[in-house]
Amino acid sequence: MSAERAAATYRRAFGEDPAVVASAPGRVNLIGEHTDYNGGDVLPMALSLRTSVAVGPSTDALSHAVSEQSPRVGAFSPTGPSRSSAWWDYVAGTMLALGTAGVAPRPLRIAVASDVPSGAGLSSSAALEVATAFALNAWSGGGLDARTLARVAHRAETEFVGVPCGIMDQYVSSLAREGHALLVACDREEATLVPMAATVLIFDTRTPRSLRTSAFAQRRHECEIALRAIQRNEPAVRWLSRASEEQVRRATMDEIVRKRALHVVRETARVAACVRTLRETGRLAGDSMYASHASLRDDYQCSTPELDWFVDRAQETRGVTGARLTGAGWGGCAIAAGAPGPLRQLADSAMEPFATQYRRRPRFWMSAASDGARVDVLRENLVGGATAMTLNP
Ligand code: ADP
Ligand code: MG
Repeated sequence: MSAERAAATYRRAFGEDPAVVASAPGRVNLIGEHTDYNGGDVLPMALSLRTSVAVGPSTDALSHAVSEQSPRVGAFSPTGPSRSSAWWDYVAGTMLALGTAGVAPRPLRIAVASDVPSGAGLSSSAALEVATAFALNAWSGGGLDARTLARVAHRAETEFVGVPCGIMDQYVSSLAREGHALLVACDREEATLVPMAATVLIFDTRTPRSLRTSAFAQRRHECEIALRAIQRNEPAVRWLSRASEEQVRRATMDEIVRKRALHVVRETARVAACVRTLRETGRLAGDSMYASHASLRDDYQCSTPELDWFVDRAQETRGVTGARLTGAGWGGCAIAAGAPGPLRQLADSAMEPFATQYRRRPRFWMSAASDGARVDVLRENLVGGATAMTLNP
């Protein structure tokens, strides 16, 4: 459990027990790719992999941060931290954003431990921000709800760290519930829990995502062009995701741009189909997942040979019902759905041939839909004094 490791790391670094320990999960997006910045729907779930942060008071005017996974120790001003490009920017930025939500900044000590792999596309950054936000909120009396804390964490990532991401990662890390996926309508920033009984295999191709920044910016640009073309006929359409296939077909645009737009509107429809199937059966709609992958590969053109290789192999594995790339693409992870036995068999049997063909050792994880952020230990809070309470022991 990362909560115990965070407390142990805290004790080793600072010589006493933390006042509070909170944790938040990484996530994977089940379906709804490249729909978020087009105002559409996404369907992530929280992973069983979590990041924990242990927090207590500092003995000087600065905040001090350590992480199990980094030899670098951070020291920063609690009221006016400057961006350092170091890992503790996620912590410092969350403290700063919490300040504007009414949680008074104060010098603290923080220790981090995590099972979420960093930089794999499973949103270790949101897990770190959200766990920090939950810990500090609990410590200062617990006045803010999970949705507000998700927004605080999102502000840390976009405004302080400087990553222009949507709300999905912080929302699911804060609001998820065990046995549920989370449907997020990105235009309304509205989140709805959807029951889900499935286990998911996450396969990390470990391919560098070097093309991602430039190609991603180009796709966003193409989507803006498509939306403007549609709006010339239909001024009321505010988001590309909310346009119909018919509206995309009628508008005058370059054929490449039309392919991007068709991916976005069809992917939005696939999210809706997947939600319907989940509500009826608790299972993931495998055909929608395969169709999503084909569309990302052929129309959005953001797959790679490694991701295609994995999805093809999933399709040939009996008992595996669906697979697709997840995250923005151009490398990173793919997921597969089905019964746990066949999923494990797919992962195990893919390792060697993949490593031989692509000269890279992949990694995999299995996860059911897990709980969002929680306070694991609260020994004292600054409003009520000592509470000696252990939650979720
Ligand atoms: P992802 O969110 O996909 O894992 P990001 O690049 O957005 O990838 O975030 C990864 C960064 O978050 C790391 O480089 C590090 O700065 C920070 N980070 C995440 N988890 C931890 C941790 N447990 N300890 C220290 N830093 C962490
Ligand atoms: Mg991230």
